Amino acid sequence: MAGLVAATRLREHGIDPIVREKGTRAGGSMLLSSCVIWRHREWDDFRRECPGGDEQLQRLVWERLDDALDWLEAQGAVPVAVETGNPLTVGRRFDPAALTQVLASRAGDVQLNHAVRSGDAPLVLCTGGFGGSPDLVDRYIEPAAPLRLRANQWSTGDGLLIGTTRGGALSAGLGEFYGRNMPDAPWGESELVSLSQLYARFARIYDEDGAEFFTRDAVTWSETNVVAATAHRPHARAYYVLDRAGLEQEVRGRPVADIVDAAPPAARVPLGGLPFAPPEDAVAAVRVAASITHTIGGLRVDERARVLDERDVPVEGLWAAGVDAGGVATGGYASGLAQALVLGLAAADHVSASLA
Ligand SMILES: Cc1cc2nc3c(=O)[nH]c(=O)nc-3n(C[C@H](O)[C@H](O)[C@H](O)COP(=O)(O)OP(=O)(O)OC[C@H]3O[C@@H](n4cnc5c(N)ncnc54)[C@H](O)[C@@H]3O)c2cc1C
Repeated sequence: MAGLVAATRLREHGIDPIVREKGTRAGGSMLLSSCVIWRHREWDDFRRECPGGDEQLQRLVWERLDDALDWLEAQGAVPVAVETGNPLTVGRRFDPAALTQVLASRAGDVQLNHAVRSGDAPLVLCTGGFGGSPDLVDRYIEPAAPLRLRANQWSTGDGLLIGTTRGGALSAGLGEFYGRNMPDAPWGESELVSLSQLYARFARIYDEDGAEFFTRDAVTWSETNVVAATAHRPHARAYYVLDRAGLEQEVRGRPVADIVDAAPPAARVPLGGLPFAPPEDAVAAVRVAASITHTIGGLRVDERARVLDERDVPVEGLWAAGVDAGGVATGGYASGLAQALVLGLAAADHVSASLA
């Protein structure tokens, strides 16, 4: 998303950028997403939920998002909802395909199947983090087993590598990621939202050794903390075990029983097939695999999206936006799309100012 936003804004500034897109299509993970672009309703909640994040960057996203959403609408993007369905957050939901189409049509020259080049200058890195690189995930996140990828396949850390090669420093939180626990069975790109197993708060949570490693009252509303914990359990897997009351709960208007029933049969484990003795009131179990959507750490940037070196001096001609920029949601979870939108605009505005 960030690249399309930055290019669209640059064109508003009278600059004709080239968008190099490594993939076979525009839109990146935005195209696969639920497309809710949000911020915490209260600033204090943002700080409390993402305590390790850079306060200046958090302020930027929190203060600029509403205007940025208006800008998106001014480009022709029509929200399908003007609320998030979560009382803790505010934002707007878009149709991901429609939003991609609007931005891609306004971004100008989008060259598919073309990876960004290190020598391009000025260069705004927007490659979507390193969740698609098993090697980088292994090095920085150190999961117990490779994480399944719940995102576009092309975000393999190219921005991070280009940025650090040119002197950029790393942000805090390199070991953190946003993801979901997904059924431990094959699934496809069109099922990344519908198959998310987002009911840990109603389940009992075990690892393969039968250790109940997470209690349901410790699960945050986003459930990202249980996903992070699952990543470090044997085989990066967990079992969600439900009683009847759990199955009757609802998540985002959907009964938990329906979510469980929709999981591929290979992940729905008969109680007798569990590798541990289930609790007496258990009626269903699903084996889940920790899956990464995007990384939270990345390149260190300032509020103008300039990539910074170890001394916090901007690297000449280099910006990073979206989740290539690290340190916004460190310690918790915040909207990656909001980060992409606000930092994409900030980068374009500063590139334009620097060329004036
Ligand atoms: C199933 C799902 C649901 C989600 N739901 C939400 C949600 O509701 N709200 C929310 O805020 N976030 C959500 N997200 C996360 C959100 O999609 C990402 O945080 C956001 O897309 C990040 O924006 P970005 O621009 O950094 O990366 P992307 O949107 O992924 O774009 C990165 C682009 O860079 C390209 N690329 C990679 N390497 C190179 C290279 N070397 N050269 C050129 N191009 C390259 C990729 O192909 C891709 O097109 C969801 C994600 C998924 C997968």
